[in-house]
Amino acid sequence: MKYFHSIRWRLQLWHGLLLVFVLTGFGFTAWQLQRANHLNRVDHELEQRMGIIAGMVRPDTSPPPDRPRPRGFPPANRPPFGNPFPEPANLRLPAREASLFEGIPGQEFYYIIWLPNDQQGVLSSSAPPDAPRPERIPGPPAFRSRGTFRECFQATPSRECLLVGRDIRSELADIRRFAWLLGGAGGAVLLLGLAGGWWVSTRALHPIADISATAAKIATGDLTQRIHTTDTDSELGQLARDLNNTFARLQASFARQSQFTADASHELRTPVAVVLTQTQTALARERPAAEYRESLAACQRAAQRMRGLIECLLTLARLDSAEVPATLESCDLGGIVGEAVELVRPLANEQNIHLDLELSQAHCRGNAGQLAQVASNLLTNAIHYNRPGGSVRISVICEPDAALFCVSDTGMGIPPADLPHIFERFYRVDKARSGAQGHSGLGLAITQAIVHAHGGSIEVASEPGQGSTFEVRLPTGSKNPRSASWTND
Ligand code: ADP
Repeated sequence: MKYFHSIRWRLQLWHGLLLVFVLTGFGFTAWQLQRANHLNRVDHELEQRMGIIAGMVRPDTSPPPDRPRPRGFPPANRPPFGNPFPEPANLRLPAREASLFEGIPGQEFYYIIWLPNDQQGVLSSSAPPDAPRPERIPGPPAFRSRGTFRECFQATPSRECLLVGRDIRSELADIRRFAWLLGGAGGAVLLLGLAGGWWVSTRALHPIADISATAAKIATGDLTQRIHTTDTDSELGQLARDLNNTFARLQASFARQSQFTADASHELRTPVAVVLTQTQTALARERPAAEYRESLAACQRAAQRMRGLIECLLTLARLDSAEVPATLESCDLGGIVGEAVELVRPLANEQNIHLDLELSQAHCRGNAGQLAQVASNLLTNAIHYNRPGGSVRISVICEPDAALFCVSDTGMGIPPADLPHIFERFYRVDKARSGAQGHSGLGLAITQAIVHAHGGSIEVASEPGQGSTFEVRLPTGSKNPRSASWTND
């Protein structure tokens, strides 16, 4: 039973059945044709001889048969050699016609004539004595097979029954030989077909064993395993390649996940350590109220840092789980950016940074709160990573199918080696400095996740020492790949 669950066995069974059907059909047809061919030849010879006997026994009054008489045979309705028609009982064939009923012993033609009273009238010397008179005798010649004999019989107008026959043992042996030959050839083709099918299916299904072994190893936790397949063109080769890509993505995703957890724990450890140290110090002995206040203020800062971090982690988790922005509305990106600029202006003034604005109305569909976070993140970075007295150019342009938001600063820029990584979570170019200043390296990751959730794109170009330009492109509202409810007004 277990064989029927195997793909290879099912293929083999189907393949075998199909071959058997085709070969049997083909062989049977060939055998039938060969048999009919042999019998037709014998029947034709019997019919010729029947014509001779019928022509010699009695004339009939029917019109001459359509069938042309064979060359050398006397016409059916005329007595041979001008003699009057003999009575069947007195029939003696002339030598030439008699020779047609001689031949290799056992294979010669014979004839039998039954008189109207069912008495056997005349029979040739080679005729089997026990040949039975046919039951129903038609006017035109009819044929029957009797054991190894083939016989043709017909009635004369005067109700004699004529029968011409021959032992067709040799023809039957020929037909049997042909059947054996067909059977042998069919069997050989079947075996060859089955062996070929087995070989092809074994080769084709071989990668499945490899795939299942690799999947089993991966299930035990070894994500470095890959399927080894040399056959890259077949469907299974393609499947193996796709699975390998999936395994690679899974491995990278697991690695990112663990890295993310490690980074998040690391980031949280610092403020927690601050709180613990402050409280331990404060509780160690009685202190003046000012010192308590100082400790509490330090704890508050640490808690605020933790809260910021936790909010960032929550935002990322929501964006990761493909949560659709809560409210999708038609937003004016220019207006949102303008409000964000006003919020960061005090920070810019503090660092003597000039803000250069070029804001036009640009409508897009999205979540205003999240888009404001994008603007705020990019503007804060442009101010924070700028040089004192530098400038930030902020523009919002409406394009035919997108709203374009650009932030260009004159700051320190980003080294080319760091550029591909700055959207990664917890990635910071200057880890020590930005960490100490409370920068967690999550701002750009959140920004990118929001932009992607809105079906947009974000790009960065930077020249170290010259400045950086961030460009956000948001679709004007036709669709959002991650939102089913994203519709056009
Ligand atoms: P952070 O909270 O550290 O600012 P971000 O994800 O916003 O985290 O930024 C990641 C890193 O990219 C920053 O640590 C900084 O090194 C770099 N970066 C971001 N924006 C700019 C900018 N405008 N100019 C130079 N470097 C920048």
